[in-house]
Amino acid sequence: SGDIMFQGVSSDNVQPAFDELNEMGFDMGGAGPAVRTSMSCVGAARCEQSCFDEARALRGMVNAYLDDMHRPALPYKFKFKFSGCPNDCVNSIQRADMAVIGTWRDNMQLDEPLAKQWFAKHGMDELVNDVISRCPTKAITLKEHGKVAKGGNISAVAVNDTHSMEVDNHNCVRCMHCINVMTGALATGNDKGVTILVGGKRTLKIGDTMGTVVVPFMKLEKDEDFEKIIELGGSMIDFFAENALEHERTGEMIERIGVVNFVEGIGLEVDPNMVTHPRTNPYVRMDDWDEEVAKVKQAQASAA
Ligand code: SF4
Ligand code: SF4
Repeated sequence: SGDIMFQGVSSDNVQPAFDELNEMGFDMGGAGPAVRTSMSCVGAARCEQSCFDEARALRGMVNAYLDDMHRPALPYKFKFKFSGCPNDCVNSIQRADMAVIGTWRDNMQLDEPLAKQWFAKHGMDELVNDVISRCPTKAITLKEHGKVAKGGNISAVAVNDTHSMEVDNHNCVRCMHCINVMTGALATGNDKGVTILVGGKRTLKIGDTMGTVVVPFMKLEKDEDFEKIIELGGSMIDFFAENALEHERTGEMIERIGVVNFVEGIGLEVDPNMVTHPRTNPYVRMDDWDEEVAKVKQAQASAA
């Protein structure tokens, strides 16, 4: 990160150069162990896959934590990145300490005239070999119109006079492949929001890490939603400042202290959707079981 970098300035001249550039109206910082200059994809400005207002989220975060960019005061760098959809054009999942990625939680949107237009141009081979069979979770099937399944999680669109594409939205993992290939005919859902991940980074103390989901879904539309995400960003910076070791990224800190301590430390509820796969170790500690069950039930009752 960094917008313009000046290298090779002698130590004595750093502050005078800093002052002079400030007087010209330039903001300085965004390097070293500090909050880095943040990035968002082009998003809603030009891209039909966008699921939230990336520029607003980015601007809000930068304005709120500008002081932390000016001077290096953290154990090491901290990066925010905002991608409008799971295509993740800014590589936030690999690179950002806090990655905000657009997603949706209802059914994908389908457009019959555009689906038929796509099929007329590309044909059955491309539909089957390049779209349907490449869905990683086999969520798409090709069926005769009369055999399309019914159900709240099913969406279907006719591609010609005899066949429809049927999408089982519960099994769609939002990989974006089919939407990228058939943009317009297939589109992201209407109930849009973001997923928040932490801890992506390149090799440092430990090897490369990808972001871990800490908020599976949150809406990002109203003023209070944007305030909430900015507040969450602040909690992450504060926790990192207080708990990371020298020259340690967020992903490494989490690896050292455990994701549960991190999630609780920044004030988030632990959610079963954060678990990648069920545990394989059959030895489970049962201490405080009843108290934990009561807590979960109470949280479920207050969310209902
Ligand atoms: S991440 Fe998604 S919304 Fe953003 S530019 Fe890429 S495809 Fe478009
Ligand atoms: S976006 Fe969903 S339905 Fe489409 S290919 Fe990916 S997982 Fe399958």
